[in-house]
Amino acid sequence: MRQYVTMLWPTLSTIRGHTLHVRLLAQLIANGRWGHAYLFAGPGGVGRRTVAQALLGRLACLQPASDHADPCGTCRSCAALNRNQHPDLTVLERDGQFIKIEQVREMTNRLRYDPVVGRIKAVIIDECDRLHEAAANALLKTLEEPPPATVFVLITAKPQALLDTIRSRCQMVRFGELSPVDVAALLQQGGVDPLVAQAASALAAGSLDQGKALADPAKIAVLDLVAELGLSLGARPAVEAAFWPERIGKALRSAKAVEVTADGDSSDNAEPLAATKGDFSRADLQWAVEALRAVLRDALLTCCAIDPSSLPHARHKPALLAMASRVDPARLAEVIDSLTELESSLVLNPNPKLAWTAAMTVAAQKLA
Ligand SMILES: [Zn+2]
Repeated sequence: MRQYVTMLWPTLSTIRGHTLHVRLLAQLIANGRWGHAYLFAGPGGVGRRTVAQALLGRLACLQPASDHADPCGTCRSCAALNRNQHPDLTVLERDGQFIKIEQVREMTNRLRYDPVVGRIKAVIIDECDRLHEAAANALLKTLEEPPPATVFVLITAKPQALLDTIRSRCQMVRFGELSPVDVAALLQQGGVDPLVAQAASALAAGSLDQGKALADPAKIAVLDLVAELGLSLGARPAVEAAFWPERIGKALRSAKAVEVTADGDSSDNAEPLAATKGDFSRADLQWAVEALRAVLRDALLTCCAIDPSSLPHARHKPALLAMASRVDPARLAEVIDSLTELESSLVLNPNPKLAWTAAMTVAAQKLA
């Protein structure tokens, strides 16, 4: 049995999620029938580039086993990838707003020569919807007459923004969101505490990037506060809900203070909420509604006899069980629906805090 060496570079066998895509690509490799250009379309942060790296690394390998989707890990090509210095791999990313014609020309020039160490020349074009018009036309020419032993992977979240002629030269692979379980597992692989990873994955919308942004203890503390308040809906006087925006806003501000200290720059330029002293933004309120909906969804699942230990808010298990034992699931489902309405009304409502207070008061009465 052949021994495979663990690669630092991504490999298909270690990709988390996207099972069907990985299987398809492995099949193409096994049959020796891969194409010269792929378009990896789908939302950001789900692993499109990692899959591209894994595919190209395998195709560049000098001594792969024909029936194995991973590269050997030891040849000159694999060693170069592990050092992240592969002369046959070109990555194009936007320079400012666009990928410029000069970048495409430089890449095309390099493709005129044979591979230096691997079996193929590989090109990744990230955010290829950012190709400037002239750059797109230059790329089209190259795709129409592809240089030998070259494989392109174009990556985009907006395939419809590409020239039809570019799209039609590529085999499209559509990527979906990652499951919360996959996001949590990937965060944990990156060293994030399991409970924090689980909490962040619930609001990450299937994106590892968003999961990473949420997986910081200060932000998790805000999520915990929202969960604590949400799970007390109906068990405490309805009037208390009017004070939630201040409490959540205060917690968010201290989370952001941590962020500012860490990054030296605050990314918060959201519109201040009109009804407060400019310290709690409309975006913050929308975020709180989304977080609230996520925790109440877990409470509803708990009502349906699902073990809370398996849910994203597992660390609130006692509160989830307590809410599930006291509320009517049909009413809880109505409250969750009303949060969706609240979220859309927050966009235009001149007094979002008032809309929030009204909605929370009704929710608390329903669950009392
Ligand atoms: Zn190799």
